[in-house]
Amino acid sequence: MTSRPLAGQNASNDPDRRCHVVIVGGGTAGWMSAATLKRRIGCRVTVVESARLPPIGVGEATIPAMVDWIENMGIDEDEFVRRTGATYKLAIRFDDWVEPTHRYWHPFGICGCPIDGVDLIHAWRRAVREGAVSADSRYTDYSFQRELCQHGCAPRRPGSPSMARNYAFHLDAGKLAEFLKDVAMNEGVRHQIAEVTGAELDENGNIDSLHLEGQPALEADLYVDCTGFASVLIERVMRSSWVDWSDQLICDRAVTLRLPGQDDTNATAGSDRETRRLPPYTISTGMNAGWSWQIPLAENTGCGYVYSSRHIDDETARRELISLVGADPQTTQSKIVPMRIGMRPRSWVGNCVALGLSSGFVEPLESTGIFLVQRALDELVECLPEATPSTFHSAFFDHELFNARMTDVYTQVRDFLLMHYVVSRRRDTPFWVNATSVELPESLSMLLDEYVTSGRVRLPERDPTFAEANHHFILGPAGIHPGTAASRQLADVAMPADAVANLLHGIQSRHLDICESLPTHSVLIDSIHSSASAG
Ligand code: FAD
Repeated sequence: MTSRPLAGQNASNDPDRRCHVVIVGGGTAGWMSAATLKRRIGCRVTVVESARLPPIGVGEATIPAMVDWIENMGIDEDEFVRRTGATYKLAIRFDDWVEPTHRYWHPFGICGCPIDGVDLIHAWRRAVREGAVSADSRYTDYSFQRELCQHGCAPRRPGSPSMARNYAFHLDAGKLAEFLKDVAMNEGVRHQIAEVTGAELDENGNIDSLHLEGQPALEADLYVDCTGFASVLIERVMRSSWVDWSDQLICDRAVTLRLPGQDDTNATAGSDRETRRLPPYTISTGMNAGWSWQIPLAENTGCGYVYSSRHIDDETARRELISLVGADPQTTQSKIVPMRIGMRPRSWVGNCVALGLSSGFVEPLESTGIFLVQRALDELVECLPEATPSTFHSAFFDHELFNARMTDVYTQVRDFLLMHYVVSRRRDTPFWVNATSVELPESLSMLLDEYVTSGRVRLPERDPTFAEANHHFILGPAGIHPGTAASRQLADVAMPADAVANLLHGIQSRHLDICESLPTHSVLIDSIHSSASAG
């Protein structure tokens, strides 16, 4: 058996021995891929971008995986925050999702800590049953991130590391693209402005060269399609099929706008001005025909309404969003973004791999778009051979493994998003009637059955995208609780009821003490920005 020489084992610095990767597309996926591949496999990388077709320009919230990417690329976090107009994100607050006027939190991380490996939810539920804590308490009362959000706190002091292990960013999509481009160019990536009009295939069906409008053809060893929904190479040239998921996730359009100011105008009653300014969380609100986001950025608030065109027209959706966020209907500029929901089971065919919107898209309910690019890059690097001319060709590319792994990741994300809808009790508009009654994929239906019977969350063995706690955060507020088998394990630990209550109270008071010692989120963001102007 011939073994596959792996990427990164012996990345060559000799320009004559380095292989060539051409990335088509200069959006977030294109520049993130360029910087990552250049750094991790040491090949020559060229980004080809059309001057005529702008990037999609949306994608303002991230998940904690973004922090790893910044670290791995050796980027200073303050610099990243300044350059991308970022703020911190510690949670999503879901308003009007389960029912109108209902509110719940989906924080990052876990609540407290596991007891003998069992999630804290079981100790809390037992304490509620036994009257040791209030029946009005919630599982998220024991989340550090939720406590920080409630108090408008930053996760750290200026110049210090974050006190919350899991955190992410809200960022300005336009500024992010510029920043990623600078990172990639500093790594030595080449940039070419040209429109790709087609490709020449060789006798094996691989891409031999790209046709560029008004410029000579361009040759590479690996072609990365980052052309967004246009899918110029993977679909038009390689004919890779698309699996449509719009029967399950029925929203297919979005209207977006920017709002001056960054206050949470719907914050908890009694919270002060400083707490409401620049909330460290995304607000997601159930609407008549979908849901909206409000994302506080350093200079303004990014807003959007993701909706189903079968249930509302563009103008009515725009007006509903404007009214929710209190924007000026006369002067506010908005943008309509069509969305294609689904994925490509074969995102990698021959010597062409699609990353970003060209490989798949599910609605941005849990802000997974940029993460999916990052995850695909991690998988791609594992499935590429060493970057030498004798090894860097499609015979050594492990397409099968990559495609199987990415299909798994997309399916996990689809199921998790769908869960938000199917557990909602809203039936007040035709949209909610339809969105909550779609046919469930077997994978999700099995997960929910097992959850209510045994209390187990069945996660994939390899790198689950969402952890056990994420499921508790979405299911509990909708009144779906874990079955008792797992909590019995906790009973076996023989912790007396008062010890459980002490433990829970201790977690809360520790979190409150830390909150008191931290600056507000707006103070931290202001200080990060002013430290640059002072320097
Ligand atoms: P694009 O940004 O569309 O870039 C395509 C590039 O291809 C452009 O540079 C264009 O010039 C180039 N191109 C196209 N055709 C050609 C051609 N023929 N020749 C040369 N170049 C060409 N993700 C998150 O992580 N968080 C969020 O909160 C979030 N919100 C979203 C909200 C909405 C409504 C949508 C639709 C998406 C959201 N996403 C979010 C996803 C995120 O926007 C994308 O994953 C991310 O921007 C990557 O896009 P892309 O680079 O694949 O495509």
